[in-house]
Parts: sequence; structure tokens; C-alpha cells
Amino acid sequence: MADPVADVLIPLAIDTAYSYAIPTGLAVAEGDVVRVPLGTRETVGVVWALRQGGAANLKSVVGRVDAPALPAPLRRFLDWVAWYTISPRGSALAMSLKVAEEIPDEAPRVGVRLAGPPPARMTPARTRVLAAAAGGALTTKRELAEAAGVSAGVIDGLVDEGTLEAVTLAPEPVAGLPDPDFARPALSPQQTEAAAGLVRAVAAGVAGVTLLEGVTGSGKTETYFEAVAQALAQGRQALILMPEIALTSAFLDRFAARFGTRPAAWHSGVTGRRRERLYGAIASGEARVVAGARSALFLPYAQLGLIVVDEEHETAYKQEDGVHYHARDMAVVRGRIEGFPVVLASATPSLETRVNVERGRYARIALPERFGGRTLPQIAAIDLRRHPLPQGRWIAQRLETAILETTGRGEQALLFLNRRGYAPLTLCRACAHRYECVNCSAWLVEHRFRRALVCHHCGHTERKPEACVACGSLDSLAACGPGVERIAEEVAAVFPDKRTIVLSSDFPGGTERLRRELDAIAAGEVDIVIGTQLVAKGHNFPGMTLVGVLDADIGLTSGDPRAAERTFQLLQQVTGRAGRGDRPGRALVQTYQPEHPVIAALLSGEAERFYEEEARVREIAGLPPFGRLAALVVSGVDRAETEAYARALARTAHEIGVTASDMIVLGPAEAPLALVRGRFRYRLLVKCPREADLQGFLRQWIAMGPKVRGSLRVGIDVDPQSF
Ligand code: ADP
Ligand code: ZN
Ligand code: ZN
Repeated sequence: MADPVADVLIPLAIDTAYSYAIPTGLAVAEGDVVRVPLGTRETVGVVWALRQGGAANLKSVVGRVDAPALPAPLRRFLDWVAWYTISPRGSALAMSLKVAEEIPDEAPRVGVRLAGPPPARMTPARTRVLAAAAGGALTTKRELAEAAGVSAGVIDGLVDEGTLEAVTLAPEPVAGLPDPDFARPALSPQQTEAAAGLVRAVAAGVAGVTLLEGVTGSGKTETYFEAVAQALAQGRQALILMPEIALTSAFLDRFAARFGTRPAAWHSGVTGRRRERLYGAIASGEARVVAGARSALFLPYAQLGLIVVDEEHETAYKQEDGVHYHARDMAVVRGRIEGFPVVLASATPSLETRVNVERGRYARIALPERFGGRTLPQIAAIDLRRHPLPQGRWIAQRLETAILETTGRGEQALLFLNRRGYAPLTLCRACAHRYECVNCSAWLVEHRFRRALVCHHCGHTERKPEACVACGSLDSLAACGPGVERIAEEVAAVFPDKRTIVLSSDFPGGTERLRRELDAIAAGEVDIVIGTQLVAKGHNFPGMTLVGVLDADIGLTSGDPRAAERTFQLLQQVTGRAGRGDRPGRALVQTYQPEHPVIAALLSGEAERFYEEEARVREIAGLPPFGRLAALVVSGVDRAETEAYARALARTAHEIGVTASDMIVLGPAEAPLALVRGRFRYRLLVKCPREADLQGFLRQWIAMGPKVRGSLRVGIDVDPQSF
């Protein structure tokens, strides 16, 4: 009889599962995590398949690893993701497997409580500890020290004397148990109907996608919570995907108000021991609801029964390095493979999703009105051609007046400018030298708080020089154009007594600080918020009644065919921050081109007409979602070598017989960012009809193309977000 062989996939950029013999006595099942020899070392991998075969010359599996196995449907999903994105299967596996990290042991939590007579010698500090510990309840040492305002040493002293007793506590549960009946909300009639539709889909327990399209403030969250409740009631887990920054404590609290406990949050900030425990709890089914960033899509859920993709139009769902995947699209695939429904929620659905609805592939449930009789904000343009801004100013008179009125009533204003830093361009007035990144084809952005010039593509940072590096002139550097820091300066000058806050993703303090700031805004502790797109999305600031868009035209001028859609969605989202509380909101939009279709549609509220026109343009051009696209980016440290390789790739494509297979290969051309981190980039685009075999073509192309050598890299991006 042939010996059993395990085909083991290793979470590295390797496509093939390697075969290993299974030593007698070792029980191994498909999906198990195992330790195997690889070259001269050992590594972990997952048993992708077991078969009977000739194990004669094979190395053997070393042993099983105590980690959750990957169920068969998840393995099939990972195979699919690798196939679709043209990635090695091991790279897809790496997104699901969270073992092999060396994680330091958690310090055990020590609890203390009163246990014996007071100490012989009393001090004021000891008196405070005894008062705080009165009642005898068990608290942690740190909590007690904090409550009493003493150092840990004081507590230790009392333990030594037998007054307090120390007890090792069990680790805190990694996730609470959400109760679907904890606090059923009073839904509006519209919400009730919408929720019923979603609940039916979950109850049916079969694959299918529903778009929940509701205007900003319509209460989509309350509505899809009912679908989550239904999944819980059926004993299934639910995953709520969100663009990372939306994992605010406000959302987690809202969830807790409905279900009695916060969902388990999964994102890059969850690390170490907690990450490992949560991973285990998801795999065992102990964690019932996960709210996660896109990476949460690849976890080994025990009984997943629903995925909600909140803000499905968000570009943050696209992973732009490693495996280039779109979490929304892959969520739909996971639902299809595992046989459960997926809900896509948005106020501004992507054109892709709209077309899928039109073609009957997705169902649609609409919430066309704001919750509680609230109205959508009134949106008006400030035409900067007719009302030019004074030199060095960025806030028009009319907007300034509106801010004054708004804050005077105790309400909040948001000034939106999608540009980090102080000024997007620095140049020398004496010699016209423009400060550019040494590694990238990009201007350096002045960050005045940090007194630095920073590249937003590679992070390269240099001190802002006193004298021009090109001509040596002193005090000749001029900041051109505004970033949010510069707006903050103007606001401080015009409204010196208002409480102002600037929020952008590069501010010090990280996610924790950002969460606190967002909570402070929601609590009304700030009058004027100045922010980038970070504050534009998803947040609920009840006191905010005015939104000022400082430059609505940013983004419209880029060459990207999705620029109009993106800008429209962003402007709808940001203006939608106004008037979500009791008082109506309004938005003022500064623009040089109020007649541009994007701005006109925003002002008139005619989203449908905008999308129809946008769809027509893309259909004629054969662009997504009507045709399919892939981008190949060739990069290398030597410009000539990189370009030559890209040209050779193009020739291979033509040899394969492009015309016969419906593939149109464009380029190579310099990529939109021609130099990034010291690497030159050339791009080839492949365009084909929807039904064509894009993946088959790409595989053949890469296989037949000239060998990649030296510093050269080829990155493949199927469905690129910008093209
Ligand atoms: P959306 O996500 O559609 O923009 P939200 O879900 O954030 O809207 O809801 C907007 C506001 O209305 C929130 O403050 C939310 O708490 C409130 N809200 C929505 N539905 C209800 C409801 N049924 N009962 C009470 N408050 C609700
Ligand atoms: Zn100069
Ligand atoms: Zn750079």
C-alpha cells in the first residue's frame, strides 16, 4: 500500500504545495497546521491535501502545530483569491495564518483584596488603600493603586504584612458575548422594512448579495445590525468590515448599546498575545461578531453566516501591495463559496455595485430619507471666479460668515481640505527651484508642525533649509498652496477664540489619539474641525451643522478615469456630515468650476443622473465595470533596464496573439508616479471584455515573458483602483 503524502502549502511567495511523507503514528488531517523542513530550516505550513502516493524520497512532516486548522471552504477561498489576483497561493495563505510569531508571555494579572487585620504601622497612603479596598471585592493591583492614588509598592507592602491578599486572575475574556435581544431598537417604518429584507436573506442562509443604499444619516447601521442579530440568533458568526479608521470607539459603543457588548475588533493595531488569542477565539467560534479592517476577511471563522461591508465604495478596501485584492469583491466571493449572504452598505455605492444591481446580480434595499425626519444638508457653491480669494487666504468671505454664525449658535463647523501638511509645494522665489523628493517623482510637502519637508509617497523627510539648496538665497522659500496646517493658521488668525482641531492621518499620537479626538468632536468639545478625508467619512457628529469644502476641484483634474466618481463620493460623504443631529445642516462648496458635472450633481442632488452619465462614458470606453482591466507595473533601480524589460514584456504579449484573445495591451508608459522609493516604474495595461479569460492570459504572459532578474520586479494588479 502506498504511504500517505501531505501536500503542504507554506505561507511564503510560493505557489506550489510541497509534498511530505507523514511519519507513522502522526495523525494529520487536511487543513492542519504542521511543521515541515524547508531547505536547511523548519517552517510552518498548512496541509492543503492528503493523498496516497510514493512517499519514498520525500522529507517528512515534523509534527503538528497547536494552531487552529483552516477549514476546507477557507482553503478553497484562498486558492480562488490567489488565482484571481495572480498571486502565489502561499502569499494568499499568509493572510489567513497567524502563527509562528514569537509572542512574549502575557504578564499574569494579579488581583488583590482585603484578607487580614490592618497593618501595625498606618500611613496616610495605607489608609487610602484600605478605604479603597473596603468591601472586599477583587480588583487588580494597578486599579487599586490608581483608586487610592498610591504607588504599587504601597500595595506590595500591605500584601507582605498580610492585610491584603494577592490572587492570580484568569485572563480577561478576549471577546464578549453579544446578545441579539439585548436592546432591540425602535426602527422607523422604512428601516423596519429594510431590516426585514436583510433578515430574510440571513435566515435563508444562502449566498447572495444585497446593497443597502441609504443616504447619509438614514440609519444604515441600525438597520444592518438586525441582520447581525439574525445571524447570531441562528448560531452563526458575523463579520462587519469597515475602512480601518471607521473602527472608532463610537461605532463599537453603538454596537454595545444594541448587543450588550462590543464586537471583537480586528485591525493592524491588535498585536501580540491579544491578536493570537482573538485569532483562536474566531476559529473556535467564541468570538461571535468581528468588526474588522480588510484583513479580517481572511480569518478562519468557525461558523461565519454574514459579512457586512460598510462603506463599500471606500478605496481603503483595496490592498495595494503584496496580494492586490479588493476586500469588498473578495467578501462576495467568500460568501458564494461558503454559502452565506453579504450586505454592502453605502450612501454612495460604487459604480461596480450599481451595475451589479442593474443587471440583477445583487438585490437592492433603499433608505432614501434621513432618520427621525432630519433633512439632508442644503448645498451651495461659492464660485471662486466671481469671488476671488484674497492673496494668502483660502476661506471665502461667505464661508467665514457662515462659520461665525454657526459657532455663534454653539454648533460645529467642519472645514474640509484633502491635503495633509502645510503646503503641497515649496519653491525658491529667487531661483525657482522646486523641492522634490530624492527617491520619488513627487514634490516635498511642507509640514510646519514638524519643521520638515516630507514626501507623501516614501516618507523621506528633510529639515526645511534656512537657505535655498540650489542658489543659497536666504529666506527665499515660498509655500505654494494650502494644506490643512495652513488652514489651521488662517482659522487661528480669524477665529482666535474658537476651539479648533486639525485632523489628518499623519498627526502624532496614532490611532488612539485620533479616536479620542473624534470622541471629543462628537461630544461637542470643539467648535471648528479642520480635516482631510479622515474626518469626511462615516462619523456621526451630532453638533455639526456646517461643512465648508475649501477646494472641491482637487481630484477632478487627475488623469484617472475614476476621478469623477471618487470626487463625487467624497464630496457627498463630507457634506453628509452636516445636520445629522437635531438641527438642519448646510454645506458651502468652494469651486472654480461649479458647472462641472460632479459639482453640478452634488449641488442639485441628482446623483442618479451623474452615475448614468458616468456609466455611459465608461461603457463606451470599455472601462470597468463594463470591461476588465489589469495593470502590470515593472519597477527597478535602473531606468533603462526597467524600460527595456517593460518593452520586452509588451512584445511577448503581442506574440501570444493579443488580438485573437480579445486582449488589448497598452504601454509601457511611465507609471503615474514614475519614480517611487528610488525605483523607476513603467506600466502596462491590459483591457478586455468582461467575459474574456483575463487571468489565463496574464498567467501565460508572465510564464512566457523574459526572466525577471536583478532589481527588477513585476507587480500585477487585477482591477486596479486607479488607472
Ligand atoms: P448612516 O450610517 O446611514 O449614515 P447612522 O446609522 O449613522 O446613519 O444613523 C444616523 C443617526 O441616526 C445616528 O445618530 C443613529 O444613532 C440615529 N438612528 C438611526 N436609526 C435610529 C433608530 N431606529 N433609533 C434611534 N436612533 C437612530
Ligand atoms: Zn533658490
Ligand atoms: Zn519620496
